[in-house]
Amino acid sequence: MPDERDDPTTPTDGAGPSARTADLEARAARIVARLREAGHRALFAGGCVRDRLLGRPIADVDIATSARPEEVRRLFRRTIGVGAAFGVIVVIDRPREGEAVHFEVATFRSDGDYGDGRRPDSITFCDDREDALRRDLTVNALFWDPDEGNVIDHVGGVADIEARVIRAVGDPRERFAEDHLRLLRAARFAARLDFELEAETAAAIRELAPKVATVSAERIRDEMTKIITHPSRRRGLELTAELGLLAIVLPEVDALRAGDGARWKQTLGILERLEAKPTETLLWGGLLHELDAKTADAILERLRFSTKARVRAVELVRDAGRFGEARTMSTAALKRFLRRDGFEEHLELHRVDRLAAGAALDDFEHCRDRLAAWRAAPPADGLRPPPLVTGGDLKGWGYPPGPAFKTILTAVEDAQLEGTLRSKDEAEAFVRERMS
Ligand code: ATP
Ligand code: MG
Repeated sequence: MPDERDDPTTPTDGAGPSARTADLEARAARIVARLREAGHRALFAGGCVRDRLLGRPIADVDIATSARPEEVRRLFRRTIGVGAAFGVIVVIDRPREGEAVHFEVATFRSDGDYGDGRRPDSITFCDDREDALRRDLTVNALFWDPDEGNVIDHVGGVADIEARVIRAVGDPRERFAEDHLRLLRAARFAARLDFELEAETAAAIRELAPKVATVSAERIRDEMTKIITHPSRRRGLELTAELGLLAIVLPEVDALRAGDGARWKQTLGILERLEAKPTETLLWGGLLHELDAKTADAILERLRFSTKARVRAVELVRDAGRFGEARTMSTAALKRFLRRDGFEEHLELHRVDRLAAGAALDDFEHCRDRLAAWRAAPPADGLRPPPLVTGGDLKGWGYPPGPAFKTILTAVEDAQLEGTLRSKDEAEAFVRERMS
């Protein structure tokens, strides 16, 4: 999902992000208060503390507590035990008025060995200090005490936020070896926050980059999607390339950097120009635009995208060249081109591709203007006029059903889209002449 926290068009007053942030924090503070009344320690944790210190709107508030999962479930009316094995309970806050919001309430824990480089084999409940030490980056390992109004920092995260630095908690090599997804996460947060990677952390990432190959396709897909969703996507992608991560997760895209790097520059140019909230298919279509459709298809298959998303993104890559024919196409062909599913994505990708190449927008303007005109036209002249003739009509006129039906119906529709057939009588005469 596009990140509206960084969308400059999102209003910052009224119902905008800051009002939402205040509302989320107030609700989370009530959950914390309830845990405290029951004798437990409870704090805001992770990303929301970081974003609060940076003065940014927050996406959600995660709560960390000394209360055990069973106790959390007892204390709140509506809970879901999604990650109960890891000590995570979702508390649903549903006020009499306003939307229901889910808060993750996680028991302070330290993680055991990461046997599979993905998930700890076991967890142990502990205090907030050890909980901070299991987290990936210092900027993500802070707590906030909403009662006292102060930060609890066991890892030097506040100083790193002030210095705008991304640093692994503890020994970077150890932390990355425990969970290789953290290699990509570090690059993502550096890009998104516009922070520098601390030298030891960056060196550890370069060294361990090949290990990102052990991360599941789904986690890589989701992490790369987060990187290219955010407006900082250009720097995010450049960082993954410089750190040697892209060569492992998307070697075909990394290979675009070879030679004079023109196609790599074009890829970055396309991505950075995409409008405020691109769809996921548009983002991936943009990322893979400089590859051939077959390669794009293989990548999306490998990353286990849904068939629907894969087909859409591959069509974006495959049909990008068709805009060059738009001004010489027949009216019928152009109408068929413009009315396809997801045409807006095709049009937007074409626009940013031309802009990135410093090329003229004639084909784009032609398509955009024709699309607007035909959409505004009455149904009979628009993109999808009601059919003049159906298969039922053909049968009624005595023709035996068969493959010829499709051919003649397409020919009728073509002529209708061209404006040369305008009534059922004309269409019937057209059919009888062709079928005789
Ligand atoms: P966002 O605003 O994108 O949600 P976030 O910091 O909340 O950012 P999440 O992925 O939601 O990030 O994770 C919440 C917290 O859990 C992080 O801040 C971090 O402390 C911890 N965390 C998440 N994933 C990992 C990981 N793979 N290894 C170690 N700690 C992690
Ligand atoms: Mg989060």
